[in-house]
Amino acid sequence: MAKSKFEYVKQFEAEDRCLPNCWIVVRIDGKSFHRFADTHHFVKPNDDRSLNLMTKAAQSVIEDFKDIVLAYGQSDEYSFVFRKHTNMHNRRGSKLMTNLVSLFSSSFVYHWPRYFHTQPLQYPPAFDARIVLYPSDQNLKDYLSWRQADCHINNLYNTCFWKLVQEKGMSPALSQERLKGTLSSDKNEMLYTEFDLNYNNLPEMHRKGSLLLRRKQKASEDMNNSMSSQLSFGSQDFQENCRVRTQTIVLHCDIISEKFWTENPEILNS
Ligand code: ATP
Ligand code: ATP
Ligand code: MG
Ligand code: MG
Ligand code: MG
Ligand code: MG
Repeated sequence: MAKSKFEYVKQFEAEDRCLPNCWIVVRIDGKSFHRFADTHHFVKPNDDRSLNLMTKAAQSVIEDFKDIVLAYGQSDEYSFVFRKHTNMHNRRGSKLMTNLVSLFSSSFVYHWPRYFHTQPLQYPPAFDARIVLYPSDQNLKDYLSWRQADCHINNLYNTCFWKLVQEKGMSPALSQERLKGTLSSDKNEMLYTEFDLNYNNLPEMHRKGSLLLRRKQKASEDMNNSMSSQLSFGSQDFQENCRVRTQTIVLHCDIISEKFWTENPEILNS
């Protein structure tokens, strides 16, 4: 086909192919969700409607991007890990990241009514995205540990903060002052002695975040499990033949200890 004289402008586009042999991680995060949470009357410290909607949106992404092997989410963020040797979009970073974050955003809006029922969406939410490459398995494990440690630290702090505000009637400024410089052990102690609350009894989803994994299951096994399994989540798609299906499962488990990786070796070998 003849090219127009304008075609040369294409050369100004930058090459952004992700380095081979590296884990590709895309992390999305809600833009100004502090305000979004206020406007939409989120329950503090953890609004389950929003957490479950985030997971639903992440599941839409995983169903579309077959080379994602794992996703981890907490608060207003989700991280997606691509298979190390993925060749999706020729490993072009901007293609992967922009397609992913726009699908996440549109799914979040699309599924909103299912989670927030009659509470209307007040304005279109936005999510930022970044792409990071990790050359070693240890780097990837440490990345995920970092996000889960962040979930824990924030949740412990927020649990204390909102207890002081909601149950002791303290102002946000005073509560913040009260918690300044406290260690994790001080916060645990405060919850236990002042609020009769054992932090470890709080829901795992709040303490550990949400992990999405793919599981291949035989169709018959799947039928047996579907009645009892608490882990099965949403739709399933048939792959290769109709005997083996891939299902997305949601876990709220520890991913910092090595135990998780020894029990799930297929993730790093995918
Ligand atoms: P930025 O645009 O820089 O990300 P942000 O306001 O989104 O700004 P974050 O550090 O991402 O800042 O924090 C997200 C905030 O959104 C939390 O601090 C919390 O106030 C609120 N939030 C998000 N999800 C929930 C939830 N499920 N329940 C309660 N509050 C939430
Ligand atoms: P990719 O994901 O690579 O962008 P694509 O199918 O979106 O794949 P494009 O080159 O972007 O490919 O082309 C968009 C196609 O969408 C057009 O070729 C046309 O078939 C269809 N399309 C988009 N907008 C319209 C429209 N307003 N009316 C009719 N067809 C449209
Ligand atoms: Mg931020
Ligand atoms: Mg945010
Ligand atoms: Mg955030
Ligand atoms: Mg197009």
